[in-house]
Amino acid sequence: MKFSILFLLIPILSYSQGRFDDVVIKTEKLTDNIFMLEGAGGNIAVLIGEDGTLMVDSQYGDLSEKIKSAIQTLSSAPIKYLVNTHWHGDHTGGNGNFNDSGATIVAHENVRERVSTDQVMKAFGREVKASPTKFWPEITFDQGMDLHMNGQDIMVIHVDNAHTDGDAFVYFVQANILHMGDVFFKDRFPFIDLGSGGTINGYIKAVQAALMISDSETKIIPGHGAMADQNDLMNYHTMLTTMKNRVQRGMAEGQSVEVMKTAGLDKEYESWGTGFIKSDVFINTIWTDLDRETN
Ligand SMILES: [Zn+2]
Repeated sequence: MKFSILFLLIPILSYSQGRFDDVVIKTEKLTDNIFMLEGAGGNIAVLIGEDGTLMVDSQYGDLSEKIKSAIQTLSSAPIKYLVNTHWHGDHTGGNGNFNDSGATIVAHENVRERVSTDQVMKAFGREVKASPTKFWPEITFDQGMDLHMNGQDIMVIHVDNAHTDGDAFVYFVQANILHMGDVFFKDRFPFIDLGSGGTINGYIKAVQAALMISDSETKIIPGHGAMADQNDLMNYHTMLTTMKNRVQRGMAEGQSVEVMKTAGLDKEYESWGTGFIKSDVFINTIWTDLDRETN
């Protein structure tokens, strides 16, 4: 009896409750005026000061009120700029709400192109409809741009065809803090969005660029996962090149992707495939990308 009531209640509860009702926004202090916010979706960076607040990425729209309150406790100044690291909804879903309250949205020109038009997420077989105008970046760049506020030089640096075709790093120069967006999933296999212009080779090159920008003191904010440093990023780079080389070797030996998925190519990286992207999905992504390159 008890069981049947429980089973009846669970779907009703999860239906009537919002998906993000239980999400708590966690704030981590990185310096006196730079913070990382975690909730659900991509990690957010916040820079506060007299010149106003700058934030990097906006997670999901349903979390905007919680995120605004978390930022309010840090500074009462208005949110002036919202920089997007790329177009995916778990990083831009709050754009409309923050734009409504006065933030100017900054991103690579391909982010504007993709949020303003219908997109097909091939990897998940679903369509993402064009967003309303208030979600679109108002200031766009090609290679990059610099912002200067609150005593920081903030370099926004485009990296080509990595996670998507519109990725940007945000580097706070004086603080030596680097937000890498989804070019870094700490200790996890990455999602590389081949349908949005992502490539394995571009992804590895972008990680190499981040290794050049950073030093042993740099605080690195990954798109997903806990705060990291250059050592974590080196491990990530080793994993990426190792996995790519293994798939490449398999292809040269004429192995099918189905065989490679079960051939233990993720040896010593099994724990990296326990997150959003499983080992077989990552192997398939590398194979699909390299295969289309050679054909
Ligand atoms: Zn993403």
